[in-house]
Amino acid sequence: MDTAPPPGKAPFDIDLVFRLLREATAGLPKAAMFDLRDQGHASPFEQLVAALISARTRDETTTPVCLRLFARARTPAAMAALPEAELVDLLQGATFPEPKARDILALSRRIAEAGAVPDTMEGLQALRGVGPKIAALTLGVGFGKPAISVDIHVHRIANRWGYVATTTPERTMQALLATLPERYWIEINERLVPFGKFVCTGERPRCSACALLRQCRQVGVSAHR
Ligand code: SF4
Repeated sequence: MDTAPPPGKAPFDIDLVFRLLREATAGLPKAAMFDLRDQGHASPFEQLVAALISARTRDETTTPVCLRLFARARTPAAMAALPEAELVDLLQGATFPEPKARDILALSRRIAEAGAVPDTMEGLQALRGVGPKIAALTLGVGFGKPAISVDIHVHRIANRWGYVATTTPERTMQALLATLPERYWIEINERLVPFGKFVCTGERPRCSACALLRQCRQVGVSAHR
């Protein structure tokens, strides 16, 4: 991050940015994992399954699909006992219900045998269908352990701020691990998902009404509202 801000901009202060983000997102719909956590589905297993279901699925779909599924099964043993065809039916609406059902059954059996959800990035990623984003969400939201989950919103916005300068979500995660204070590792996903949907949108972000305008370097923003 620069030390001398450009004309019209303030020094980038990450604590101030998070205070402003909390205010800016207070009235917006929550990201699915955090919404489920706040509705009582905070266990590492439920967070793991929900994160897997959320891959390439909109939050507006993920939350009701997960609530329907967890009403039927919310422990590894109960999930592993579901017939595959029933699980596919329960996942209807989410993307790729068949492969996701197979992944959920496979990881549920393994966790039921092991007796606990793994609580490390490596252990989680050894489960079928689990990549870095799902593992980080499970660690962060399910276990409360510091982990940064970088989706397309976190990647886009951290680059627009000028806080990182990267070309892929994977590189953004590495850059944030090196730069972002640990106290914000879980929260950055919670804040930037709704902020990215409603304010700092992919096309024509709402810069003129954005609370972060003074801090943000607007890197790569050529057209905005
Ligand atoms: S000023 Fe614009 S680019 Fe920067 S965070 Fe706000 S909406 Fe996004």
